[in-house]
Amino acid sequence: RTVLRELTEIKNPDISPIETLPDVNPNVFHKRHLKKIRDLGEGYFGTVTLCLYEPTNDGTGEQVAVKALKEVKGQTSESWIKEIDILKSLDHSNIVKYKGCCTEMGQVVQLIMEYVPLGSLRDYLTKRNGLPQCIMFAQQICEGMEYLHQKRFVHRDLAARNVLVENENLVKIGDFGLTKYIPEGEIYYRVREDGVSPVYWYAIECLREGKFSFSSDVWAFGVTLYEILTRCDPRQSPRDKFVIKNGDKTNVGNHWTKSYRFIFSTYLMICKYFYQQVKMVMEQCWNADPAKRPTFEQLIGRFKDIRF
Ligand code: ADP
Ligand code: MG
Repeated sequence: RTVLRELTEIKNPDISPIETLPDVNPNVFHKRHLKKIRDLGEGYFGTVTLCLYEPTNDGTGEQVAVKALKEVKGQTSESWIKEIDILKSLDHSNIVKYKGCCTEMGQVVQLIMEYVPLGSLRDYLTKRNGLPQCIMFAQQICEGMEYLHQKRFVHRDLAARNVLVENENLVKIGDFGLTKYIPEGEIYYRVREDGVSPVYWYAIECLREGKFSFSSDVWAFGVTLYEILTRCDPRQSPRDKFVIKNGDKTNVGNHWTKSYRFIFSTYLMICKYFYQQVKMVMEQCWNADPAKRPTFEQLIGRFKDIRF
């Protein structure tokens, strides 16, 4: 066999053994080898399915999460490609891992990610989860966000529904569908296009002026922290079903006033039960002046200082 290999190598000096194998690109997934196991969840923009990817059909397949875009008005394939490209460029233990994509007739139709077994934080948290674990999750979200901001991306949709639980000690940020790049030297991204928005997580300047900055992610983190502390109890949840068109200014003001009051009244209510330090963090994240909100780096420090 060695002789044969040597002969082949001499005959075809520029064909490396790797190139002669089919499906060498590990990021290319073929639809025919994806077998649906069950639905994992759906958001406003996409549906996510647990699949077994088994090109060999011999029981050695791996479980993957497959995201496909829903047909939503105003949703373009361009923004879908952007979501995939952004996820592809990220590598952090608190961010869901990109695995590849699945194309059909030259069009990217599905995004393949690692399967995060315990689902979203919103579905995972219950009264049984203690405060130390909640704070650990909050800190990990900050670690992932700090990394994202270092790469100059604003997430724009940070919420418990978009945080995934790997195990009782590890969470990962997912859903980069609204994420935008902020060029060096600029401090915000201005939304011009019409679209739907998770308004109850939006900072005051996002709703008033459509300005999204690193600081507006910090505001959304404050709301996410609030969700975590209430263990995502649906009766106390900011209403994520509330989606409005960005262009609709009258509606924006209206909804925002309600959300603002709602968030702050509930926040005051829960303050009675939680540590002063955690209460202060939330309050700082919701500072009306974006420049006065802490950065994720500072938030990590605050959580590290919390002693139980
Ligand atoms: P959308 O852009 O429509 O909001 P998401 O990416 O947030 O879609 O996914 C919708 C839901 O699917 C999530 O809230 C979560 O419950 C589930 N999900 C998403 N990605 C994964 C994953 N990698 N592993 C397990 N569940 C996931
Ligand atoms: Mg989502």
